[in-house]
Amino acid sequence: DASTSCTEDVAGPPAKKQRMDMDSPSSPARPWDPLTWKALPSCQNPFASVMPAAVASVERQLSALPPLVYPTEVQKLRGLLEEVHGGQRFLLQGGDCAERFLDCSASVIAVKLKILLQMSLVLSYAGRKPTVRIARIAGQYGKPRSSAMETVNGQQVPSFRGDNVNDMDPNNRTPDPERLVKAYFHSAATLNYLRALLTGGFADLHESKHWELEYVNSKERRLEYEALVENLLDGLSFLDVCGATGEASKTVDLFTSHEALVLPYEAAMTRRFNGQWFNTSAHLVWIGDRTRQLDHAHVEYCRGIENPVGIKVGPSAPPSEIVDLCKRLDPQNQPGKLVLITRLGAKNVQTHLPPLIKAAKEAGLNVIFQCDPMHGNTEKASSGHKTRRFDTVLEELLETFKTHKAHGSHLGGVHFEMTGEDVTECTGGPQEIDDTDLHIRYTTYCDPRLNYAQSLEMAFKLAACLKS
Ligand code: PEP
Ligand code: MN
Repeated sequence: DASTSCTEDVAGPPAKKQRMDMDSPSSPARPWDPLTWKALPSCQNPFASVMPAAVASVERQLSALPPLVYPTEVQKLRGLLEEVHGGQRFLLQGGDCAERFLDCSASVIAVKLKILLQMSLVLSYAGRKPTVRIARIAGQYGKPRSSAMETVNGQQVPSFRGDNVNDMDPNNRTPDPERLVKAYFHSAATLNYLRALLTGGFADLHESKHWELEYVNSKERRLEYEALVENLLDGLSFLDVCGATGEASKTVDLFTSHEALVLPYEAAMTRRFNGQWFNTSAHLVWIGDRTRQLDHAHVEYCRGIENPVGIKVGPSAPPSEIVDLCKRLDPQNQPGKLVLITRLGAKNVQTHLPPLIKAAKEAGLNVIFQCDPMHGNTEKASSGHKTRRFDTVLEELLETFKTHKAHGSHLGGVHFEMTGEDVTECTGGPQEIDDTDLHIRYTTYCDPRLNYAQSLEMAFKLAACLKS
C-alpha cells in the first residue's frame, strides 16, 4: 500500500532524481531554517486546498505556545539511543496508529502507560537488557494516506487524515488547520498526565505487583508474569536493604514520538536553544514510508533538527536511496541520531533486509535498526476489516532478529501499533481472536493495533529472542 511516488496532494512540481550535490534543493550545504521545506514538493500536504492565511494564523498561534518537551530531554534520549546503537540497551516503541482526541482521558492514558511499562519490565528482566521506552503518544494525530478518497458506507469521501486535519465523521472531512491548535492542547494534556503518573509513583518498580494483568486468560502466562514480578521485588528489596536502590527504581524514563507529517505544526514547534534547533513537540519524530523522498519537504524539515529521527523503510525502498537519505539527515553520522525502522512484511524480510544491512555497512552508517512488524502485514479479513495476524507479526519479528544475526548486524529495537485496551483489531494471539470477532471492539481510527494481551504476549516472545 505504501508508495514513494507522489500520487496525490502534490504541492509542487514532481521530484526529479537529484544527485547529492550543492545544487540539490535539500543538500546539507544549503542553509536550513524551520521553513526551508516550504519551497519543496510534498506527497502529503493535507492543507494544500486551504487558504494560506488560515494556515499562517495557526502557525502564529502555535509559535507563541510553550514547548511540550525540553531540549535536554531530547539530548538525554540521544544519549540512550547511542547505547541502543552500542547494543547495551533495547528500544521499545509503541502506541496507537492514530491517536484520537477523544482518547485524551485518564483511564486510556494510564492503561497505555501500564502496558508499555509491563512490556518493558518483561524485556528488561527476562531479556536482561535495560529498555528505552518511546510511546507513540501526545501528538500522533496526523495520518499519511495513499489515496485522496476512501469508501465509507458505500460512499466515496475524502480520506480521513487524522484528528490533526479532518474528522472521522465521513460528513466532515474538510481539512481545518485550526485542528492543529486543538492537537497541541490534547498533546499537552496527555503529556502532563503521563508526567504526573510517572513522578507520582505509578511507574515505581516497588508497585509493579499492583500493575495487574488484564485480559490475560492463559494461566501459564499469568504464573510466568507473577513469578517474574516476585523475583524482581525480591531483588529490589535486597537492594533496598543494601541502600543500593535510589530514585532510579521509583520512576522510569518515557519519551514521546509521532510522525513528522503535518509540517506547519512541526515547524511552529521548532525552537532554537543555544544555537541548535529542536522539535519541541516530541522527543523523537519519524519520517513515514510515503514521505521519505530525498528532495521533498519532509526530509528537508527533518535534516535541520537535533532530535533523533526515525525513517520508515518499506519493501519499495532501494537500499542506496536509504543510504543517501541517512547521509542527508545526519552528515556527521552520529550513533543515536537515526533509527531505520524496517517494515518490510514477513515474506520480504529474507529478500529485502540483507541488501539494506549490506548497504548500511558498506557506507559505514551508525544507524539503529528497529523492526516495525505491523505495517508490512496488513490484510483484509473476511469480515471486511483491516487486520493483522499475531503470528505474521511475530514471524516478521523473528525473521528480522535472525537475519540481523546472520549478517553480523543487530536489531536494536521494535516498533508496535498497540494499545492497553482489550480491542479486537488484530487476529490470533492468546485470546485466539478470529475474523468473526473483529467487529466486537474495533475502535481504531486507522490501522489495527495489538491489544493488551497480544502486546504482553509479544513482549514474552521478544524477551526469549533477547536472551538467546
Ligand atoms: C504508521 O506508522 O502508522 C505508518 C503510516 O507507517 P508507514 O509510514 O511505515 O506506512
Ligand atoms: Mn499505522
